[in-house]
Amino acid sequence: TRTPLIAGNWKMNLDHLQSVAFIQKLHWTLRDAKHDDAVEVAVFPPFTDLRTVQTLIDADRIPFALGAQDLSQHDSGAYTGEVSGAFLTKLRCRYVIVGHSERREYHAESDEVVASKVQAAIRNGLVPVICVGETAEDLEKHGASAVPVGQLQKALEGLPAGTEVVVAYEPVWAIGSGQAATPDQAQDVCAKLRGVVAEALGADAAAATRILYGGSVKAANIASFMREPDVDGALVGGASLLVDEFAAIVRYQK
Ligand code: 13P
Repeated sequence: TRTPLIAGNWKMNLDHLQSVAFIQKLHWTLRDAKHDDAVEVAVFPPFTDLRTVQTLIDADRIPFALGAQDLSQHDSGAYTGEVSGAFLTKLRCRYVIVGHSERREYHAESDEVVASKVQAAIRNGLVPVICVGETAEDLEKHGASAVPVGQLQKALEGLPAGTEVVVAYEPVWAIGSGQAATPDQAQDVCAKLRGVVAEALGADAAAATRILYGGSVKAANIASFMREPDVDGALVGGASLLVDEFAAIVRYQK
């Protein structure tokens, strides 16, 4: 009985003015269709949009959870350009993405940095959405699960049993490529990732943890992923920027 989570990672798209129109349209689209409250919707705008989106969803009682795309591993201090988890909590963020493959690749985020960001998120009352996934080269050399399993083990090291986290399995080769993993492939890796959560955080936490699939998710393939027993939602990039497409993903059951 895990509540499915459909999460939109906007990446570096939509400025704070554009975010207003977008959130309002998405809200109206989902509201008109009486979308199923059993699905949790979360949006992950750029930092500069967070205050605006938070004000809007509070004022109009829009039932979307708010998340940030990254955070600093430090809580305050001389770290020019960084954003603290404490600041995100004050903006009523519930989630924060940690270890996205684009951060790992373009900002050289190591497993150690990712682990300290996971700790910073939890220390500040945020739920980390921990991203793991193999590159095309990893897939060829080691198969699909070895790299994501290792990444998740390191990210969860030292956390107390029962800690709430969300895991996102995003094969790097599937991100923005239009070539999603098959539901079978996603299920296989997500089941192994649930095993990692069980070892690190205990059986109860593993049963409660949402494990998302990400990588070229769209309205046409979401239902096939959601049918898999260990896939509890999706982390959506490109398709989360299109109101009707994202709304259709949220309404995958219909
Ligand atoms: P796409 O949905 O554009 O493939 O991106 C997936 C992703 O990286 C979400 O974090």
